[in-house]
Amino acid sequence: MTNKYTLFILDNDECLGSFGFMSLFHSYIVDTYCMDHGLKLSDPRRKEVDDLFTQFGARMLGLGFARPSLKEFFKTLHALKRKDAGVNVVMYTSAPRYGDVSEKEYTDWLLTLKNILEHYTGYAVYDFTHSGRTDEEHRREAADGATLKDVRVILKKLGITQDAVQSVVFLDDRPHNIASWEEHKFVRLGMKAYHCMPLRASLAKVCAEYDARFSALGCEVVPSQVLASEYAESRMEIREDNAGRTNARCLDADHLSPAELRSIRALFGRKTVVKPVAKTT
Ligand SMILES: [Mg+2]
Repeated sequence: MTNKYTLFILDNDECLGSFGFMSLFHSYIVDTYCMDHGLKLSDPRRKEVDDLFTQFGARMLGLGFARPSLKEFFKTLHALKRKDAGVNVVMYTSAPRYGDVSEKEYTDWLLTLKNILEHYTGYAVYDFTHSGRTDEEHRREAADGATLKDVRVILKKLGITQDAVQSVVFLDDRPHNIASWEEHKFVRLGMKAYHCMPLRASLAKVCAEYDARFSALGCEVVPSQVLASEYAESRMEIREDNAGRTNARCLDADHLSPAELRSIRALFGRKTVVKPVAKTT
């Protein structure tokens, strides 16, 4: 049994945090710079700008874009991986890996977000990233426009059979978009959607700290400019998203309420997360 796989398949947006605004910073600052200078993903010259963006992104996550209990959750995953080599952590998201095909060689938003999440939490946990929108040959869309997720897609990508799997844990704010699988091995955990747009002043302070550093590396667009041009609209979009979602809310503060934090910790807690669900039918 110890050689079998336990897969933690994690959604990103509204599950581990609220990352839409972060992707705008990346697009304006890093993608534009790398495309203008012909710096493909494999080009070693982009390491400095990628590293700086990872640091910047991690600081921004700490302002509220990351769900408050994320560090504890990643610490738990890391401990599980150390104990059992069969534990694999997968990022499975509806977010596109790149804007369009012309950007393919220059940007990988999933890789960037992976780096930021691991830098922020201090734990490198991911084994694999998958975009339901970009990577699949025959992608399936749910009624709400998000990806219809299926564990079989991930098993195929990992090159393993279902017999090699001991258990699969899906964590998503839209658990209704995850196709059923072998019930006795399968756990779908639905998170309350997490939306957050930190106060503009908090973001402005961190942006200002990084402006000169991005500029020194040759980036023409710096964080404060992105904040100035995109904050109002992004904040409004988050409010609109909330209006259409019964389980969502908009946060001005950097933290959830103590009661919500407790319920999320319980979801992220090892016993809840790791135990395969009992067969009910
Ligand atoms: Mg989500």
